[in-house]
Amino acid sequence: GALMVEDLTEIARERGIRYFLISYVDLFGVLRAKLVPTSAIAHMQKNGAGFAGFATHLDQTPAHPDTLAVPDPDSLIQLPWKPEVGWLASDVWCDGQLIADAPRNVLKRQIARAREKGWQMKVGVECEFFLLNKEGTHIADTLDEYPKPCYDQLALMRQYDLIKELCDAMQELGWGPYQNDHEDANGQFEMNWEYDDVLKTADRHVFFKYMTKTLAEARGMRATFMPKPFNHLTGSGCHMHVSLWDGARNLFDDPQGELGMSPLSYQFLGGVMHSAADLCALFNPAVNSFKRINAPITASGATWSPNSITYTGNNRTHMVRIPEAGRFEFRLMDGATNPYLAPAALLMAGLDGIANNRDPGERLDINMYTDGHTLQNVRKLPLNLLDALRLLESSEVARAGFGDAFVESYIKLKLKEWNAFMSHASAWERLHTLDC
Ligand code: GLU
Ligand code: MG
Ligand code: MG
Repeated sequence: GALMVEDLTEIARERGIRYFLISYVDLFGVLRAKLVPTSAIAHMQKNGAGFAGFATHLDQTPAHPDTLAVPDPDSLIQLPWKPEVGWLASDVWCDGQLIADAPRNVLKRQIARAREKGWQMKVGVECEFFLLNKEGTHIADTLDEYPKPCYDQLALMRQYDLIKELCDAMQELGWGPYQNDHEDANGQFEMNWEYDDVLKTADRHVFFKYMTKTLAEARGMRATFMPKPFNHLTGSGCHMHVSLWDGARNLFDDPQGELGMSPLSYQFLGGVMHSAADLCALFNPAVNSFKRINAPITASGATWSPNSITYTGNNRTHMVRIPEAGRFEFRLMDGATNPYLAPAALLMAGLDGIANNRDPGERLDINMYTDGHTLQNVRKLPLNLLDALRLLESSEVARAGFGDAFVESYIKLKLKEWNAFMSHASAWERLHTLDC
């Protein structure tokens, strides 16, 4: 029965797993773990792996008791390049309670809220990343300097060995990978796999970043998902394609609806439009994130990232694109996005939109890069992390949907990051201010 299937000791014996990585993702999106021999997994599966609370990068103090990461057997992924290790995502506990600000817990809570209505969110995620030299200072492929590099076959194939290795791994894991390309910046790539249940996709998203960094390192490179690593080049987005399902039925599909989308989907979209600015600190969580969404047009002629809260049909210059019937593409998120918090925020905002019948307003079909400035009353996204955190702090939707504990913990920890940034004088400042 189900219990047997979920017994990790048994699974380890069957599949030759000798060690487990019991991992969780912290509030900054960093993957943390303990490496546990199979002989100890039964105990850990029951009681969790212990972490010192203050060092978990969740909102815990040095006086808190152990943080316990209880692995979810459903998340098990055997490392394709080292099958004797099994990776596990965890639910994070302290003092007999799920930690309110642990990102996977935050997402699971929204999933449960949707399930109460009979709904399941499905998500496809598009990871963009750069391949740099080991030190992370330059693009790894020194020949990749063509001024319009998007879809450049030569540059794509110079990284064939790594891309093939990653794609083979996804194939083997059953994710349904279907395309890989050279993106719009030199040194930048994107790899796509099939959409699926939101929690499954989030766990895979975490693992994809880990796998890409690890296998790039093994080839003497450094993979980065940093939102805007180069001033003159396009940044790395992390688009999410979203739909809401009732069993086998996509509730966003409606042949009678505008662009084939149902009234329910427009309510969901209305919620996301309503809270996009307030939730920007979750979609765009790094100081650097705001250099991507507020970038001037880059060397290639477009930024491909939004700076205003607008939606459209199949047009890549807006925050939300409806590429075809049945789903939205949210283009706001970047590579620093926490794989759990971003879909949690989308789902939370969408549920609010449905509950309050929020109107997304008119669809815009203009080119936002050339004509966006002509629009009156278009709401803009925040310009920096501090403004974004202030918006989150005063968001009634976020407080009601997430609970105060998460919102306050998140703001507290991210404000420390902002203050650290503000206490650091940069090379740019010296250059522009030394002779003032
Ligand atoms: N790299 C772009 C961004 O920052 C997205 C490019 C695309 O449309 O795939 O969002
Ligand atoms: Mg892309
Ligand atoms: Mg896309």
